[in-house]
Amino acid sequence: MPVKRRDLGNYALASVVFALTPNFLRSPFPFGQALLVDSGRLNRRLSALAQFSSSADGTTRLAYSDEDLAAREWLTDILHKLGTEVSVDLGGNLLAYRPGSDPSAPPIMLGSHIDSVPAGGSFDGQVGSMGALEVLATLSDAKHMTRHPIEFVIWANEEGGKTGSRAIAGEVTETELDIVTASGLTIEEGTRRLGGDLTRLADARRQPNSLTAYLELHIEQGFVLDRSNIDIGVVEGIVGIKRWTVTVNGFANHAGTTPMDQRQDALVTSARIIDVVNQIALETPGRQVATVGRIEIDPGAPNVIPGHVTFSLEIRDLEMVKIDLIFKQIQAEAERIATDLGTEVTLEQFYESRAAPTDQRLRNVIEAECGRLGLSSIRMPSGAGHDAQSVALLAPVGMIFVPSHDGISHSPLEFTSPEQVTAGANVLLKTLLTLDEEIL
Ligand SMILES: [Zn+2]
Repeated sequence: MPVKRRDLGNYALASVVFALTPNFLRSPFPFGQALLVDSGRLNRRLSALAQFSSSADGTTRLAYSDEDLAAREWLTDILHKLGTEVSVDLGGNLLAYRPGSDPSAPPIMLGSHIDSVPAGGSFDGQVGSMGALEVLATLSDAKHMTRHPIEFVIWANEEGGKTGSRAIAGEVTETELDIVTASGLTIEEGTRRLGGDLTRLADARRQPNSLTAYLELHIEQGFVLDRSNIDIGVVEGIVGIKRWTVTVNGFANHAGTTPMDQRQDALVTSARIIDVVNQIALETPGRQVATVGRIEIDPGAPNVIPGHVTFSLEIRDLEMVKIDLIFKQIQAEAERIATDLGTEVTLEQFYESRAAPTDQRLRNVIEAECGRLGLSSIRMPSGAGHDAQSVALLAPVGMIFVPSHDGISHSPLEFTSPEQVTAGANVLLKTLLTLDEEIL
């Protein structure tokens, strides 16, 4: 349920009153309630980061490129000035450690990625990266020591396969080290350039209890929030994906001499199946999506009835069982259609990415903090992949979405307003403080 929007002014006033109140008169509220991020500094840094780009429009900052390296140096300098301990791990992730008061507590991690796709935007990954940096800066200004240490992270090569986050989760395989990335370097060469070393895959891995939680702020990259004018998306999880190759066998024959009622047309069968895929996904209650995005027709001539067609089928949902349920319905319908038309159909799975639910406690805190900040919020799945999905294998994760103007992403037209960026960073800050002081 969307929460009603209220004015942020109350909060600003509350923080002024707090700042002017002598220590002994301050209420016993948790410290975090009076803190807010510095919107000007946050948005200036977001603009400054956008300068590290090889394209004039939007941002091109390919993983492992000169621009990636230069932006990391710029960030390292800021992180040093904040008094954090900066390092690069074996996966090439840039890390900054801020101690907490409880030496036995594993860190709460905050961060995102700064690499982009070619001709990408200046917000994807970057809002979350600068948001997490601003949280550190705000805590530093307030000289606030959290109970848990805080670990800031910039993940390596998110756009090219979430290499950095998958490395700490032990998901990177030796064979992918030779994959040539958009920068022209292989994953192994690129990681080395950032200061990592993925030939030591086993050492790049972290232990499951080494983090208390991970929080990531990110742009939605879709238009749910923008179209419904809601401030914050409380991410329920990153959807799982399954993909199949659908093969339809008919009989290729002369398009002029074969009567209409004597045909075994593999393409007509495919067309009806594709329509059924769309209908089932549309009419089943829930937020699953199903797509046919690629098709090949054989022999592919205007005067030959198609004898052989292959096409892709992709289904996404937050629950893997739901994906399987939708698939079973599609499969049954596909077989019925093929039999009716004298053709044969087979469906063979070739890809699977497990769904990564966020942590229920973290979701509740994010939602409550939105309410306290007077921001409207809605619970929603993430249809796109994120580093949080790898970290979910190690620790409870929480994700905060801010709106993407017109739902545009991976484009120079990507846009989130300074106010929206600030709102997201404040939710990140408040969530961190509440988790640190009350929940974890
Ligand atoms: Zn991203």
